[in-house]
Amino acid sequence: MFEPTAEQAEFRTQVARFVEAEIAPNATTWDRDPSDHPYPMHLFGQLGELGWLGVGFDESIGGSGGGPVDRCILFEELARGSAGAALGIYVHTSLAAAGLAAVANPALVERFVPKLLAGELTGAWAYAEPDSGADVTQVRLSAKRDGDNFVLDGAKMYITNATFADLILVVVRTAGEPGRLGGLSVLAVDGETEGLTRTPMAKLGMRPSELAELHFDQCVVPADRLVGELDTGFRQCLVVLSQGRVFAGALSLGLGQAAMEAALAHVVTREQFGAPLAAKQPVRATIADMVTRLRGVRELVYSSAMKLESGGHYDTDASIAKLVSSEAATWISERCLHLHGANGYMLDSPAQRYYRDCKINEWGEGANELQREMIFEALTKGYRP
Ligand SMILES: Cc1cc2nc3c(=O)[nH]c(=O)nc-3n(C[C@H](O)[C@H](O)[C@H](O)COP(=O)(O)OP(=O)(O)OC[C@H]3O[C@@H](n4cnc5c(N)ncnc54)[C@H](O)[C@@H]3O)c2cc1C
Repeated sequence: MFEPTAEQAEFRTQVARFVEAEIAPNATTWDRDPSDHPYPMHLFGQLGELGWLGVGFDESIGGSGGGPVDRCILFEELARGSAGAALGIYVHTSLAAAGLAAVANPALVERFVPKLLAGELTGAWAYAEPDSGADVTQVRLSAKRDGDNFVLDGAKMYITNATFADLILVVVRTAGEPGRLGGLSVLAVDGETEGLTRTPMAKLGMRPSELAELHFDQCVVPADRLVGELDTGFRQCLVVLSQGRVFAGALSLGLGQAAMEAALAHVVTREQFGAPLAAKQPVRATIADMVTRLRGVRELVYSSAMKLESGGHYDTDASIAKLVSSEAATWISERCLHLHGANGYMLDSPAQRYYRDCKINEWGEGANELQREMIFEALTKGYRP
C-alpha cells in the first residue's frame, strides 16, 4: 500500500497551497478564454523558479531530484486545480524534457534540458498525424538527409503546446514505409523553423492547453538535432511514453478527485424536497462509488510510480493505472455533472469543465484499447495482477 514519506506529504501540501492560490481561482477564466492562446504561460516561469518543472529529473541536468512519486503528486494536485493547465506542464516536462533526457546525446541534453526545466524554454512532443493516431507505425512525415541537415515535409496534428513551443520533439520517418516502427527517428525542431506553419486547433476540453496542426514545408533541421539513434530513435522513446502513463494516471486522478469534491460540495448544499440532495440514498451511494474508485486509482497510480522509482517492471502496472484512472475520471465527471443538474450544465460551472476535460486521457499515451491489448499480452508472459 502506498504511504507517502514525510517529505512527499510536505511537497503535496506546498503544491496544493500553490494550486489553491494561483490555479484553481483562474481555471474557469482560462477555460473560457475565447482566444487562440489561452495557456497561462507564466506557469512555466513560476513552476521553473519553484523547481517543480525539474521534479523527477537529475540535478546534473538542471533537475530538482526526487522521483516519479513526487512527479505524480505534482500532476495530481495541478490537475485538481486545472487539468488543462496541468496537461501543458505534463507535455513539457514528461514528454519533451524527459524524451531528451532519456535518449538524446549529452550535447543536446546540456543545451536544452536545463532551460526547459527552468521554464526558460517551452517544449512539445509530436507524433500524431492525420493518418497516424493510435497506430504510430503510420507516421509519414518525411525527413530526408541532405548533407549536414534533414529536410522535413509533411504534417502533424493535435500537438499540445506546439502553438508556442520553442522546441518540438518531432517523430519523423527517416527510412522504410508506413506500417513499420523501424525507420522512425526523433528530431528536436525549433518552433520558429522556416517552413513550419503552426495553426491553432479549437477543441472540446482541456481548453487552457493549446493544440496545433503543424505543416512542414521543406523545413531544414540540422542533423545534430537527432534525438537518439537514426531509424530507431522513436523506439528508444517508447520508454518515455510508457513512463508517461504513470503521470497521465496521476493527472486523471487529480481530475477525478476534483470532480468528486465538487459533487460532494453540491449535494450537501443543494436542497430539494425539503432536504439536501445528500439525504437521498442514491445520491450518497454515487458519492461513495466515486470515492471507492478514487481509492483504487490512487493505489494503482502510486504503486506503479513506486515500481518505476525502484527500477522494477512497471510497464503493465502503468498501463493498468492509466487505463483505470482515465475511465474512473470519465465516470466520476459524468456523475458529477449529473448530480449538479442544470447548474452543472452552465459554462461557469466546474462540473461541465471536468466532463469535457476528462475524455482525452482515454486516448492519450496509447488508447485504452491498446492498453488492454498490452495487459493481455503481459498476462500470457506471466504477469500476475
Ligand atoms: C487534447 C489533445 C491533446 C493531444 N496532445 C498530443 C500531443 O501533445 N502530441 C501528440 O503526438 N498527440 C497528441 N494528441 C493526439 C493523440 O495522440 C491521439 O488522440 C491518439 O494518438 C489517438 O489517435 P486518434 O485520436 O487519431 O484516434 P484513432 O487512432 O483514430 O482512434 C479512434 C478510436 O478508435 C479506438 N482505437 C484505436 N485503436 C484501436 C484498436 N487497436 N482496437 C480498438 N479500438 C481502437 C480509439 O480508442 C478511439 O476510440 C492529442 C489529442 C488531444 C485530443
